[in-house]
Amino acid sequence: MSTNAPNNPSTSQPAGGAPDTTGEAGEHKVSNFLRQIIEKDLAQGTYASRRWGGSPGNATHHANGQPDPAKIRTRFPPEPNGYLHVGHAKSICINFGLAEEYGGVCHLRFDDTNPEKEDTEYVNSIIDAVKWLGFSWNGEPGQPNTDALPYQASDYFDFMYEAALYLIGAGLAYVDEQTPEQIRVNRGDFNTPGTDSPFRARTPAENLTRFQEMRDGQHEDGSMVLRAKIDMASPNINLRDPAIYRIRRATHHNTGDKWCIYPMYTYAHPIEDALEQITHSLCTLEFEDQRPFYDWLLERLCEGGLLQSPPPRQYEFARLNLTYVITSKRKLAQLVYDHKVSGWDDPRMPTIVGLRRRGYTPESLKLFAERIGVTKSDSWIDYSTLEGCLREDLDPKAPRGMAVLDPVKLVITNWDSIHGAGTLDECHAPVHPHHPVLGKRTLQFGKELWIERTDYEETPPKGFFRLFPGNKVRMKYGHIIECTGAVKDPEGNVTEVHAILIPDTKSGTPGADSVKVKGVITWVGVSEGVSAEVRLYDRLFSEEMPDAGGKDFIEALNPNSLQIVNAYVEPSLARARADEKFQFERHGYFVADRVDHRTGGRLVFNRVTGLKDSWGK
Ligand code: ATP
Ligand code: MG
Repeated sequence: MSTNAPNNPSTSQPAGGAPDTTGEAGEHKVSNFLRQIIEKDLAQGTYASRRWGGSPGNATHHANGQPDPAKIRTRFPPEPNGYLHVGHAKSICINFGLAEEYGGVCHLRFDDTNPEKEDTEYVNSIIDAVKWLGFSWNGEPGQPNTDALPYQASDYFDFMYEAALYLIGAGLAYVDEQTPEQIRVNRGDFNTPGTDSPFRARTPAENLTRFQEMRDGQHEDGSMVLRAKIDMASPNINLRDPAIYRIRRATHHNTGDKWCIYPMYTYAHPIEDALEQITHSLCTLEFEDQRPFYDWLLERLCEGGLLQSPPPRQYEFARLNLTYVITSKRKLAQLVYDHKVSGWDDPRMPTIVGLRRRGYTPESLKLFAERIGVTKSDSWIDYSTLEGCLREDLDPKAPRGMAVLDPVKLVITNWDSIHGAGTLDECHAPVHPHHPVLGKRTLQFGKELWIERTDYEETPPKGFFRLFPGNKVRMKYGHIIECTGAVKDPEGNVTEVHAILIPDTKSGTPGADSVKVKGVITWVGVSEGVSAEVRLYDRLFSEEMPDAGGKDFIEALNPNSLQIVNAYVEPSLARARADEKFQFERHGYFVADRVDHRTGGRLVFNRVTGLKDSWGK
């Protein structure tokens, strides 16, 4: 089934609607249950009759002009109580991505119903994360307006209060003065129906008086709550008269001290969706049991004429579980506060800021979200899938460069007699092997070169084709050499490897193939190599499921998740701008650190990932 959704000019994607399309990253877009629901609603015009305007609250104050009611609207509703992580990235890609794909809009909305927990640091970090992933809110398609304020739950507190008054008047809500403990006990459990509160039979007039007293600050925090009046015997415990308002004397970052009662998230969230004319409210599976209350509330408010029909609908998808990663905000916070990592943006953290600093790109995360797909059942995704998406994104675009991470000096002992003392020989290498238009790098070959310590073996193991006495290798983009031995210090450590140049074997010259070799060595000229700090990051945890079964995840930390080395890099790498990504030939992908771009005058690179999966089973 296809739709007439217009092409979104902000992307290069074909018009949404076709179930199988090829996205920006070249990924084949596979239909899934969410795409099917949206396509059906668009085809049937489910929301086309709903009219914007006249909505109570502030729902329209952010929007650019009159939004088209025929468009789909999704939302991403984080609670600003921590930094977003890779699981949120999935949710962002689903919510913003589907809206973009079908010519709709996605709202960034802060769930700030909990006055104590919000922090502007988190608010700003969430805004940055969504923008960095390349999404915008508020703007109609093609008119991104990322500078506009995101939506926030607290914009609708007035309406939520009015809606509560309506429910009370209609006999659908009551003020309960049981203690929290009594409420808990009387709610029953899976096997036992709940017991009615002695306050359940109060008249609407009594309830109204009580609720207004709650709002006016006449009662203690926690002394009473407003509850929806549904069914204390419902098999779904969420329908056993859920609390919808509580008393909490706390200053709210947006509404200040205007309120001493705050709506519960389960009550606030459906109303926010309805006021913003959301069509498809997409969330993770743990909200499945809340859906009956979501529907109950919006249906009642539509009946009462407070909201327009049809109300939004909630659909649940499986959250992301990624091996070797924890995605609980609380546990991530513990890693930060216990100094197990350097901060929220430590390149080992699965936070969006951490992934970004590690060298992940928005395209790689979008590719990942598309590849893992959307399903209705929980599963685990292997970490290598995430790394694979990054390699796929970087391989075709990352400039190449040579770096020696564990340097030892190679001396060409016959250099002076062949090329002349103090001379250098210019060699050329492509910036990218598949894109000649990107040009060439220039490298200076000379008598002294840095090579990897592990490229020399005095007594080589079987299958070792690199440097050992008597063996010939090609110095990549340069000449063929024959190893003659090494100099060692009194402890037996190699301090210099020696070799002789085989004349007329330079890469790109007619004699290049005159000698056959099995090994190719990467190198950096001593005359031009630039010293750099390279941070070799690996997985933060050495166990696949670090927090499974209530395990202490701190014990699962990988002790070798960071190793810092003093490397030499070729001059083209030494010009790296912060956040620029490269493939270090033979070593993997590296990024110039965006925070500590230069430390003590030296460049800092982070290892993003190796060239291949080294953790494979
Ligand atoms: P908290 O326990 O603090 O509520 P949370 O991870 O649920 O943490 P929210 O800010 O409420 O954080 O999440 C915003 C949105 O991101 C929600 O819609 C939630 O369903 C979604 N989300 C959170 N974690 C994941 C995950 N691992 N995979 C996919 N979506 C997720
Ligand atoms: Mg949550």
